[in-house]
Formats: sequence, structure tokens, C-alpha cells
Amino acid sequence: MNESNLHRFATRSLETKGRQFKEAAPSMRSEFQRDRDRIIHSTAFRRLEYKTQVFVNQENDLFRTRLTHSLEVAQIARTIARNLFVNEDLSEAIALAHDLGHTPFGHAGQEALNICMKAHGGFEHNLQSLRIVDYLEQRYADFDGLNLCFETREGILKHCSIKNAKLLGDVGERFLNKLQPSIEAQIANYADEIAYNHHDIDDGLRSGLLTIERLNDVKIWRTHYSQIKNQYPYLMNKKLNYETIRSMINTMVKDLISISTENLKQFHIVTIDDVRQSQAIVTYSLELKEQIIELKKCLFRNLYKHPYVVSMAEQGKKIIYYLFNAYFQNKQLLPKDFQTDEKRQARAIADYIAGMTDRYAFKEYSRITMLNR
Ligand code: MG
Repeated sequence: MNESNLHRFATRSLETKGRQFKEAAPSMRSEFQRDRDRIIHSTAFRRLEYKTQVFVNQENDLFRTRLTHSLEVAQIARTIARNLFVNEDLSEAIALAHDLGHTPFGHAGQEALNICMKAHGGFEHNLQSLRIVDYLEQRYADFDGLNLCFETREGILKHCSIKNAKLLGDVGERFLNKLQPSIEAQIANYADEIAYNHHDIDDGLRSGLLTIERLNDVKIWRTHYSQIKNQYPYLMNKKLNYETIRSMINTMVKDLISISTENLKQFHIVTIDDVRQSQAIVTYSLELKEQIIELKKCLFRNLYKHPYVVSMAEQGKKIIYYLFNAYFQNKQLLPKDFQTDEKRQARAIADYIAGMTDRYAFKEYSRITMLNR
């Protein structure tokens, strides 16, 4: 990518704060393109294919998994970055890596693992994503992890407690100093939200758990749905739903680009330091923000808290509790790589469980229950 047409406040790969272990500059790619490629080649990235987004991965071939979710996030992030004349490669790398640390069984899995880890420092998927790219991937001769650039790592660490920030060194500093991340990281964050709101509507409708009637209670859906119906009076079912979703994504992306462009002017943003010291630059209009809150509440009530989704989540939690306790009581059940001394054992178990796909967790669960019979 040619970075010369980017705004001054964009993050340039030649000006990166660098990698933890010094490496020669890449010859055919920019630094952030190299980061993106390392993320795609990682084991954790491939495993996203079999991890729950909302629906447990084994349920149906049609629903999003964390992998297809991450690809949708990357594609939306690139469009926004390109239109704001900032670094598309960096936004893409952050987007592809943002969910690497997710446990099997989605948020329910993380909740369960966090409870298991309460006495051992807790578990948080965002921190785990960083842990994967910093230590856990084992591929390169000269270092553990992927040795990504500071800017990519910083973007991956979306939120963080003050206590953890103090332990994390350079990437933790912005939380201590209350600074913003790069504009590329801000973009990846919004792209995540745009992607999941819409694909969850799509998956929700296809599963039958979410209905048009419920969605019609929500202004943003109602508006776009009736617009598409007026434009194509004979359009039915799938195509009608999909065109509505498409039109909503378009509206959100456009709104985000235009408001962010305005913010850049209004806040007099010239340099990267201005970006960091300013209030958040990437935002929606107030009107759209309210509509999105209404949409999210609808998804929460009708999809994420649907008795069927909740019961699958509960099953996932049980499996995580069971596995954690089984490994903790008998570390011989773990692969050799994850058996360690008492002080580090709980964290190693969390790393092992977090790395599992949904189906592998099911398999381990039946293996160990068979052994314990
Ligand atoms: Mg995500």
C-alpha cells in the first residue's frame, strides 16, 4: 500500500514505534501488512472457524462463526479507513486479530472461564488476544508470539483495567494517561459493532428466533425495511431482509465516515499526537447513535437472551467449569506443553481452554467424563 496519500494524523508503517524484538524491515510489504499476514497464518486465527459467535458452532453450517465475523469486520474497517485517508492495512490487521482470544461458546465461555480464574487473576478475551500475539503462538525461531508492531498490539487491547494496564508496559500506557488509541484502532472498534449488529440480525432471522415483527419495533429497521419495500414492491423474504440489512450497513458506514471527517476538522486534528489527546474522533451522529442503542436492546432481549440461545450458553458454561476443574485437579489430563508448576498452572489451563474450538471442548468433555466414569 502506498502510504503517501494518507493524512498526516494517519499511522504510517515507516514511523511505527516498532516490535518488541527488533527485525529487519520487510522488503515486499509494509510493517502492518506483515502483521496482518502473521495474524492470518496463526493457529489462533484458523481456530476462529469453529468458535461460536452467537450460535454454538455445531448447530448449523449457515451461521456466522468468529472467523467469518472477523472477516466482515476487516472488510468494513478497510472501507472506513480508506475513506478517511488513514492506514487501511493497520485497521485490517487489528480487525482480523480483535477476537483471537475468545473462548469456545462465545461470551458465556468467557464468563465461565473468568469465574474459574477469579483467584488467579481473572480471564478477559481482549487481554487474551494480546497474550496470544505476544506469547502463545509458537511459530518463529527468534521469538515467542507474532512479534507484532506496537500499533497493532495497542489496537488489539481495546479496553483494560488500570491494574492490568500497569502490568502491560507500553500498550497499557494510554489507559493510565487517559489517551485515545490511533484512529485506525478506533475504526476497527466501530467496524466490529457494525458487523455484529447486522450479521446477528441476519442469523437471528434465519434461525427463526428473531422475527420481522420484533424488528419492526425498532426505528432503524422499520425505516430501511419500508424503504426497500417501496423500492421493490415484489421483493420477498430473504432478499428483502438482506437488502434491508445491506442498506443499514451502508447508512452506518456513511454516517461514521461523514461525522468522523467533521470531527477531524472541528477538533483541529493535524498530527497523531492530536488524535491521541483529543476526545474520540470516530463516532456516529447523535441521531444514529440513539437508533443503534434501540436496535441493540432489541437484539439483546429477543436474540441474545432468547431461551434457546441462553440454554446453549449454559451448556457451554458447564463444559468450561467441568474442564477447568478436571485439569486443575489432575494436570496429567493436559498435554505436556500445558503442565507446569503450581504457580502458573491455572493460567496455563485457561490458555489451553481458551484456545479450544467449540467442538474440541465437547470432545475433551466426553473424553474426560469417560475416563472419570
Ligand atoms: Mg468481534
